[in-house]
Amino acid sequence: SPIPAIGLTRYSTSAQPSHKHTTPPRVRNLIGGEFVDSRATEAIDVVNPATQEVVSQLPLTTSEEFKAAVSAAKTAFPSWRNTPITTRQRIMLKLQEIIRRDADKLAMNITTEQGKTLKDAHGDVFRGLEVVEHACGMATLQMGEFVSNVSSGIDTYSIREPLGVCAGICPFNFPAMIPLWMFPMAVTCGNTFVLKPSEKDPGASMILAELAMEAGLPNGVLNIVHGTNDTVNNICDDEDIKAISFVGSNTAGMHIYARAAAKGKRVQCNMGAKNHAIIMPDASIDATLNSLVAAGFGAAGQRCMALSVAVFVGDSRPWVEGLAERCKALKVNAGHEPGADLGPVISKQAKERICNLIQSGVDDGATLVLDGRNIVVRGYEGGNFVGPTILADVTSNMECYKEEIFGPVLLCMQADSLEEAMDIVNKNKYGNGASIFTTSGIAARKFQNDIEAGQVGINVPIPVPLPFFSFTGSKASFAGDLNFYG
Ligand code: NAD
Repeated sequence: SPIPAIGLTRYSTSAQPSHKHTTPPRVRNLIGGEFVDSRATEAIDVVNPATQEVVSQLPLTTSEEFKAAVSAAKTAFPSWRNTPITTRQRIMLKLQEIIRRDADKLAMNITTEQGKTLKDAHGDVFRGLEVVEHACGMATLQMGEFVSNVSSGIDTYSIREPLGVCAGICPFNFPAMIPLWMFPMAVTCGNTFVLKPSEKDPGASMILAELAMEAGLPNGVLNIVHGTNDTVNNICDDEDIKAISFVGSNTAGMHIYARAAAKGKRVQCNMGAKNHAIIMPDASIDATLNSLVAAGFGAAGQRCMALSVAVFVGDSRPWVEGLAERCKALKVNAGHEPGADLGPVISKQAKERICNLIQSGVDDGATLVLDGRNIVVRGYEGGNFVGPTILADVTSNMECYKEEIFGPVLLCMQADSLEEAMDIVNKNKYGNGASIFTTSGIAARKFQNDIEAGQVGINVPIPVPLPFFSFTGSKASFAGDLNFYG
């Protein structure tokens, strides 16, 4: 290869941001226990969104390499499924220990490639770590059922069996958490795995793969292939892959769901969102404003559980003023800079898309209360920064309301009653999460019962369940019948 293939230790050297390196390393595939450079001639740049420096180059894995990864996973399956569950669990026990050891390194890599603040990057690692901890109790989770003497002298039992080779396709926004939603549960159940990280920030997956190997995962149990649409289509079509976990946009998710289901695969797709908060006039003012700001603008709004729409019951003006005041105090900066509240968005294209949707809101008659489009961050003038943006007087026919913005933009709407507010939420096509802020038990109970969203918060802005439950989502936010990790 004309491009120097540099080992993964390159990621491990120091707490220096990767953009300090002069030659961008090429990201390797993991096939059958070996970290190997791809023969692919085509590669795409992994770019630090705060500085535009090229962190690494990601190969578009060839079909032969993809087949080799699946074949390694298939070969590893028979002995791995027969490996005692206690041994499989112990590897997870070791993995959770060394993820903690290397949490700083993981977080720095996430900040460098994805842009979020170091604090958010640590959260990204921690929420994934909790799934690894959950996988440590797999023996109990995997217990079957037994009924004796169902008829004379006959007992019946059911057992939970691994499927074989499973695959995971990841989005860019949680580079550690989402791979950790996928492979630890799958492999501890006795499956083997082929992971395709996001092409935008593969580094955390590579560090996690190194750690999984160090923890004792046998060769071929976890494999990693890089690429974009062609690699994904290969995963959908491959006869040896039995199940797919996908997290990402609806365009990709519904394509994958249809294509993989047509091949008889089991598929779970977690997709887009437009999460609403309903704010009742009796809500506690300070706590609610703090929650809306944290959930609306944290991680630059690039969370699938970000609150992107606030529906105020009654007069919205004092609330919107309070929000704008708090947002002005937020510090937009490169994620590794001390005191940064939000970092850049992932790419120039993402920034352009977000800015266009803000403009469409203005053109459709919304009030631009706070405009973050022209923000300049000193020292990072080339970064993809969008400052906190608030659009008020938004209505549900506007483009900015119908589309997922996935940036630091909060839409404010007004309703005359709880019923009217809930009607707005329930008519939205997405149903990932929804929250209500109120001190009324009656309103809370009505919301909890009648809101159409997978994950429901009462005075909780981001109601994400811990791994002993499942991450759910309903309506267009999820396709499949089995949810992630719980
Ligand atoms: P994306 O759909 O662009 O990419 C996700 C994965 O799909 C990537 O690995 C990518 O290579 C692949 N892909 C993209 N387009 C494809 C195509 N046309 N054909 C085949 N493969 C394709 O998503 P993203 O921008 O990386 O992530 C942001 C999205 O993910 C948002 O919509 C967000 O709401 C969603 N998300 C959802 C959850 C959830 O749990 N519901 C969690 C995180 C992110």
